[in-house]
Amino acid sequence: MKSGKIILFVLAAFALIFYFLFFLGSGGQTGGFNFIWIAISLAAVGFILIFFATRMGAPSEVPDNVTVNIDLPGEVGMDTIKCKSCGGVLSEKDIKLVAGAPVATCPFCGTTYQLTEEPKW
Ligand SMILES: [Zn+2]
Repeated sequence: MKSGKIILFVLAAFALIFYFLFFLGSGGQTGGFNFIWIAISLAAVGFILIFFATRMGAPSEVPDNVTVNIDLPGEVGMDTIKCKSCGGVLSEKDIKLVAGAPVATCPFCGTTYQLTEEPKW
């Protein structure tokens, strides 16, 4: 995440440097028209890269506010999830994302298991 942001900023800096060079090169030359267009597109690329770089960095700066959205199938209501072992009703707090998969931990008997797409309980 962080390195990608740095790479984008470096690329943006290069684009703007070359924009400046092409802009200077456009003056007093026969190929001036082409240089101007290259310069304009380089500037556009540079600003687009900066835009993406700043947007990319935004979420990592506020890690505490990141809410984990657990994607459960629409059919499975939170109040209908029950423990496989003891039948205790599991609440939203008992489900956490482990390695990208929703994992339920029963507060009553301590059983931990993965939630599948189509639960059979
Ligand atoms: Zn249980």
